[in-house]
Amino acid sequence: MHTITTVAELRRTLEKSRSADQRVGFVPTMGYLHDGHLALIAASQAQCDVTVVSIFVNPTQFGPNEDLSSYPRDFLRDEELCRGRCVAILFAPGAHEVYPIDFQTFVEPGDLAKPLCGSFRPGHFRGVATVVSKLFNMVQPDVAFFGQKDFQQCAVVRRMAIDLNLPIKIVTVPTVREQDGLAMSSRNRYLSEEERQRALAISRGLSAALDEFCSGERHVEKLIAVAKKHLEAVDRLQYLELIDGDTLKAADSPLHRSAALCAAAYVGSTRLIDNVILALPAQ
Ligand code: AMP
Repeated sequence: MHTITTVAELRRTLEKSRSADQRVGFVPTMGYLHDGHLALIAASQAQCDVTVVSIFVNPTQFGPNEDLSSYPRDFLRDEELCRGRCVAILFAPGAHEVYPIDFQTFVEPGDLAKPLCGSFRPGHFRGVATVVSKLFNMVQPDVAFFGQKDFQQCAVVRRMAIDLNLPIKIVTVPTVREQDGLAMSSRNRYLSEEERQRALAISRGLSAALDEFCSGERHVEKLIAVAKKHLEAVDRLQYLELIDGDTLKAADSPLHRSAALCAAAYVGSTRLIDNVILALPAQ
């Protein structure tokens, strides 16, 4: 595995792959890798000849009072995990490699970035779209892999790829969960044992609503009410919304198109997000 920290070396290394006509897969991450990240890597390796994993804790997607400075980091462990999975290239640029002094050009996503996390984290998706487009330009992958856990991020990145004519296929990989259902997240490490138990309310609520949906329930208020009962255990529910899977606007009731039930909640001082897809055949 090549561990690379500069764009110039990344380009040089990837040139060989490109001249051999190899398909390049890309998995952008903020590190502190877990099985969710590893599922993205496995998906890339199944579909591509060369997999590039990036680790970069992107400052522009954190708000001023968010956890940028305390975000969990363990580069040596991440490197070992990537080596163990036979990742070809681990790209770990420093902040100045990504954001040169005087940096002032951003990618501004549109309406898809406004609801849900966008309304509670102003500027978050601007930071995401900017760093993802920069990383896309550095790596120039054929395919890029994102997790369904960040449902709105997937929608924003897909839209950006279309709107900016990026010749990159965007693949969404299903959410990987702990055995008890908690969605894997680097931020889970902030949770105490007691908070970890209460955090289960999120996945339990979403999965109870999914069960109701699978039993035939199509009324939005009913599905939300089923999830909400479980979510009483969290400290602060930021949102619980059933949204159209394409537009991210409130889904029509009764449901007649695929939708996503998305939640964000604080357990202690940790903000967690999760979602389930309520899939219906296209009409
Ligand atoms: P992060 O390091 O949290 O920025 O995440 C990097 C990528 O991993 C994003 O595309 C996430 O959506 C994805 N990811 C994070 N957690 C999970 C999970 N539990 N299952 C699948 N993908 C995930």
